[in-house]
Amino acid sequence: MKKSKFITGIPKALFYLRMSLVCAWRFRSFRVLRKAAEFTGIFFKHKLLRLPSGEFKLDFYMPRYPSEAFFRAMENKLICSPPRPVSVVLSMTRACSYRCPHCYQSCDRTDELPLARLVETVRELRDFGVVAWAVEGGEPLLKFERLDAVLSEIAGLEVWVNSTGFSATPEKIARLAELNVTGIMTSIHSVDEAEHDRFTGMPGSWRRALAFLGDCRAAGMLTGFNTVLSDEAVVEGGIDPIMKLAGEQECDYIQLIHPKPSGKWLGRRLDSAISREAVAVACAAQVRYNSAREKHAPILTAQVFEESPEMLGCCCGGIDRFYIGAAGDVQPCEFVNISFGNLSEVPFETAYERMRRAFPLPCCEWICRTRAEEIAEAAAASGGTLPLPWAQTEKLVADWGTGTPTPVYQRMEIYR
Ligand code: SF4
Ligand code: SF4
Repeated sequence: MKKSKFITGIPKALFYLRMSLVCAWRFRSFRVLRKAAEFTGIFFKHKLLRLPSGEFKLDFYMPRYPSEAFFRAMENKLICSPPRPVSVVLSMTRACSYRCPHCYQSCDRTDELPLARLVETVRELRDFGVVAWAVEGGEPLLKFERLDAVLSEIAGLEVWVNSTGFSATPEKIARLAELNVTGIMTSIHSVDEAEHDRFTGMPGSWRRALAFLGDCRAAGMLTGFNTVLSDEAVVEGGIDPIMKLAGEQECDYIQLIHPKPSGKWLGRRLDSAISREAVAVACAAQVRYNSAREKHAPILTAQVFEESPEMLGCCCGGIDRFYIGAAGDVQPCEFVNISFGNLSEVPFETAYERMRRAFPLPCCEWICRTRAEEIAEAAAASGGTLPLPWAQTEKLVADWGTGTPTPVYQRMEIYR
């Protein structure tokens, strides 16, 4: 079986040169090309991943190059006016047997968007130009019929499935590969099996996750860890052991997610001094693990680095991404528990336009942190069910205004 390969140094620079020439030919406009250079220049900070198919991934969140999905993503940002988001996180069920303390959707309403409306929504988003999909639950494999219906609509785009591997079978894995799923992300929150199982509340979850990733890799899909480490664990050196484990498992990516006060953790206060230190440590680790020095390690994608002012800032609210919960609520991000409308009640365009009005410009401030207290207070006053419905969201976001504009988007001059 062919493996992916990490590329750094001169071969990476040559790839970017070749890609620029292809983009120049494709767009044939100096203005668009300048914007393309600004945008892809951001991703030069990552190791490049060459896939067994011969395609390349510049960035975990961008479709592989030179797929049609990649060029559509570029057009969304560089040519469409106003620019469109590239990606969505779609929860297609809340069903899950795990009990993770940080779950961002465990306080959500329990009904599920009817299958027909779910599929209709997927088609709408696909036709609107959303090309990078993270499809998840709950545990998506538990509702395989729904998962199959969703994936069938977006086969060939950049599609990642977030799954614990619970209820996986060889047949389900073969079907995911048949549906052209790009990759599988599985939660691994510790190198210590017992600690991870305690966190998920599910005995055997650590072993199951690793076995599942191995089976998915053997079926030809990319693989990675979604890892939530506490700020204390990051500061105390927790990144290197988890990177080592991911390397031993031949993973392509590890997405390091910092703790956020949302969902079950809404209202939780983080120690800002330790948080600042953890951000600095994670950013330094990201630079090291994306350098030639760590050429053979998986690619580290630390959210605190990707969301820094030097990268793309906070891209929630349909700037680059947004979230649709299992019940059909359109949220700016999975970690921001407010709804711009439920798709059982309003068309997608209505919810999307409300959301875009609330987040007109890309900004550096992390909304999941800066607005968490207000959201927690509003949720407590209304019984604690999340996300806040549109009537409450509307009042809340009316005062939000904008923050510090994200430099790369200012240079690109695409949001005005
Ligand atoms: S596995 Fe995912 S959906 Fe299930 S409880 Fe944990 S975080 Fe929530
Ligand atoms: S709200 Fe913004 S900073 Fe926070 S996780 Fe979402 S996109 Fe990232």
